[in-house]
Amino acid sequence: MAKKELDWANIGFGYVKTDKRFVSTFKDGAWDEGALIDDDMISMSECACVLQYAQTCFEGLKAYTTADGKTVCFRPDLNAERMKNTAMRLEMPVYPEDKFIEAVEKVVKANKDWVPPYGSGATLYLRPFMFGINPVIGVKPADEYQFRIFCTPVGPYFKGGAKPITITVSDFDRAAPRGTGNIKAGLNYAMSLHPIMEAHRNGFAENMYLDPATRTKVEETGGANFLFVTKDGTVVTPKSDSILPSITRRSLMIVAEKVLGMKVEEREVFFDEVKDFAECGLCGTAAVISPVGKIVYKDGEINFPSGMDEMGPTIKKLYDTLTGIQMGTVEGPEGWVKVID
Ligand SMILES: *Cc1c(COP(=O)(O)O)cnc(C)c1O
Repeated sequence: MAKKELDWANIGFGYVKTDKRFVSTFKDGAWDEGALIDDDMISMSECACVLQYAQTCFEGLKAYTTADGKTVCFRPDLNAERMKNTAMRLEMPVYPEDKFIEAVEKVVKANKDWVPPYGSGATLYLRPFMFGINPVIGVKPADEYQFRIFCTPVGPYFKGGAKPITITVSDFDRAAPRGTGNIKAGLNYAMSLHPIMEAHRNGFAENMYLDPATRTKVEETGGANFLFVTKDGTVVTPKSDSILPSITRRSLMIVAEKVLGMKVEEREVFFDEVKDFAECGLCGTAAVISPVGKIVYKDGEINFPSGMDEMGPTIKKLYDTLTGIQMGTVEGPEGWVKVID
């Protein structure tokens, strides 16, 4: 076996069918052993619960090659735990956390030739997901499920440096109080498609969602959490029960406090105070941090002092430190980087 001959720097973000995927079936109250298979197609009833009532959830993480040539993943235990929490909220069976991590390892090992080399900026994106597959017409949870993981190589998120983006404040809401905003369910994305397309049509890269109850507090975007930096260097992230707990954001807060010795706060962030921050970024697995240069809203716009040309200095330091930990060039907290091969 040999590495695939791909132009790693230019593969972009589309789905590419790789060699193997993992599938395990839940039936008669139990998960089977699961297996790696070649077939990327799924056959199911037209009345499958996932098709009628959207009983589906997912996770996302990356495998990549470190500076010393190891194939690794970043904190897959947190993906396993989050998928457990998501499954319970959707009345789906929990895929055991240790089995989840084993399945991640199996998929990465079976597709090792697709793991991009160190320095390419590309990674192998892993997509664990689960859905109710048996026919259900009266509204109730399915009895049978599939848990799957496929992987697809993705190119570097930022080509030629991270350029700050302009975002807007959405007129739509993302997640109700006591709703499903804190779980990684497909349904949260279905409802975000119209707002994000509207934002794109109006020339914005992303939507900032406010809390639906009062529309005064910052929640998150459709797929990334916010980090702000105050003018005196404190790292602030919004606290709310309807924000999806980003593993990247939680890791960056630990990096800021424990590795870089910065002051950190997780608290309610009012939209009115956003104009006073020095820097703003969006955190998620895909980009680690995307810098935000400008926020446009109904009554005006906010231009962060960090500007539209490059990442602000604090966000850059956080980005460099976390990506250094991931790539094995900076020492990080124990257990964050899981060596697969
Ligand atoms: C997946 C996701 C994130 C980012 O989480 P990471 O674990 O950092 O990738 C943020 N917000 C939403 C709504 C998400 O679905």
